[in-house]
Amino acid sequence: MPQKAIDEEKRTVRGTIFDIQRFTVHDGPGIRTAVFMKGCPLRCPWCQNPESVRKTPQMTYFPMQCVGCGSCVKVCQQKAIRSTGKNLVEKINLTLCNHCGECAVSCCSRALQLIGQSVSVEEVSDTVMKDSLFYQNSGGGVTFTGGEPTYQPEFLTEMVKHFKKQGLHLVIETCGMFPWDSVAEALSLIDIFYLDIKHVNDEKHQRVTGQSNAIILENARRID
Ligand code: SF4
Ligand code: SF4
Repeated sequence: MPQKAIDEEKRTVRGTIFDIQRFTVHDGPGIRTAVFMKGCPLRCPWCQNPESVRKTPQMTYFPMQCVGCGSCVKVCQQKAIRSTGKNLVEKINLTLCNHCGECAVSCCSRALQLIGQSVSVEEVSDTVMKDSLFYQNSGGGVTFTGGEPTYQPEFLTEMVKHFKKQGLHLVIETCGMFPWDSVAEALSLIDIFYLDIKHVNDEKHQRVTGQSNAIILENARRID
């Protein structure tokens, strides 16, 4: 494939994020932008961002915000929303729901929200680079977090390469659960790793996260 076509293909690599937070000061040195990527191989019961666990966009319901207008039930072609007698949403049947987002659009109180959106590297960059002056003057940069950022290895790699070319300082927050080779190129360009090992005891790790920590400990030894 000619180089131009390869470059074009890379520009179109897309991933799923559920937030971009500008001006964060707790995710690495200086003033930063945190890119929250979707998907995680662990199932920790204390997860701060449970809406991040699934890799693709997902419908989420915030019952305190529901005003019982019934719009969502009417627009749902999948008949996935069951309401109470007072029109409040009782349950979204996630087996029927195809995460089309129509109910969220119809919801006036943002009680239903589609968490996660598909974006290109350039779209993320458009937001991140707005604060480049702050990064320069504070020693900040970009932090990849989630979810588990390595769960989208191709997208992570393209973002890391892109922002490294812009001269930005890069941090990753990871649980350490990833096949090393899938993100080796990205990891070689990261400036700071925040590695969150849930438990060093394998049996306890499996009990709370659903996964062995063997790969995590192996990866921890490889990060220098
Ligand atoms: S996202 Fe679409 S399919 Fe799912 S509950 Fe809403 S309208 Fe129905
Ligand atoms: S559209 Fe929103 S506010 Fe209205 S019933 Fe559905 S979830 Fe509640």
